[in-house]
Amino acid sequence: MTVTDRPTNLRVNGARLMDRIMSLAEVGSIDGGGCARLALTDADRDGRDLVVSWMRDLGLDITVDAVGNVVGTWNIGAGAAIMTGSHIDTVRTGGKYDGNLGVLAGLEIIQTIQESGWTPSRPLAVAFFTNEEGARFAPDMMGSLAFVGGLGVEEVLGTVGIDGARVGDELLRIGYAGSTPCPSSPPRAFVELHIEQGPVLEQQGVTIGAVTGVQGISWREVTINGQSNHAGTTPMELRHDPAYVAASVVVFMRQLASRYGGNQVCTVGKIDLHPNLVNVVPASAVLTLDVRNTDEGLLRKAESEIDEYLARLADEEPRVSASRACGSRAGQVTTHRCWPACAPPAWSSCRATAGSVTTPQNTPMNGIS
Ligand SMILES: [Zn+2]
Repeated sequence: MTVTDRPTNLRVNGARLMDRIMSLAEVGSIDGGGCARLALTDADRDGRDLVVSWMRDLGLDITVDAVGNVVGTWNIGAGAAIMTGSHIDTVRTGGKYDGNLGVLAGLEIIQTIQESGWTPSRPLAVAFFTNEEGARFAPDMMGSLAFVGGLGVEEVLGTVGIDGARVGDELLRIGYAGSTPCPSSPPRAFVELHIEQGPVLEQQGVTIGAVTGVQGISWREVTINGQSNHAGTTPMELRHDPAYVAASVVVFMRQLASRYGGNQVCTVGKIDLHPNLVNVVPASAVLTLDVRNTDEGLLRKAESEIDEYLARLADEEPRVSASRACGSRAGQVTTHRCWPACAPPAWSSCRATAGSVTTPQNTPMNGIS
């Protein structure tokens, strides 16, 4: 059957799409219903093999590039392809849909169009990118960044993971060190379907939304040193308590996010107290600061306000010191996987001392705006 006019009533086969999602979810399945297919592990290879077999079933031309990105193309029509896709690697406790939906929906769309008999004017392609989660190798979105020329192939191949494995070695080991050039030549257009990673659409009862921005992320670690002492015999006015200072930073972060509103979020996800004992005023506190905004200017403003707050704490009183190390930073980008090569996130590391001293008992809690 050949159809020349574009059909207006095409509908994908939802049951078939769900079957593929559930079949892929069985690869690397974990207790509780999720998946563990860390990038370039045996489980990731098995997932890749399964998706590639489905691409073959649809008659797609399959290419694997130097960093293991896989593209299945229905070579029909003329010109650069319309591309969709996502990722099939997961974090250690990943879900069934994250990434997988974007890849398998692409296959379902191609199959639906093939069955309709309509011939699109351009090739249609489905991609899955290597190590999008970043749970084993940093940074995340590694494969798609290399695909658009934002990260060099040699840098990707030389990346060492949390288990000491090298990306280049692991690609060879699982059979996905391909020869297709990377970065790729740009497709005509790219669209990614992805599950919502937050609760907003569901909470508002909205079925689907369009991404308008991606958060810039600032990660930092703050170390606060005080004086360890006995919890029973040290009067409150003689304490130099890093836990108290750490708590004031947590409150400041929360209030900053409330003050900014919009897309500003701040998280203290980790606090380590030492020695972490019930009857000891701690000697030190190490806490992490995760600050995000889709507006780069506001993100930088938030970072500098936090720096000023730490410096102010340091100026207040002697004996407790706060130092800051900024772990990594990804600048705000306006579109995800955009062509031609968009400005890559600016990853950087630095170490800085934000100041020295404060005593916790006089920390101006009600002076925090
Ligand atoms: Zn994802």
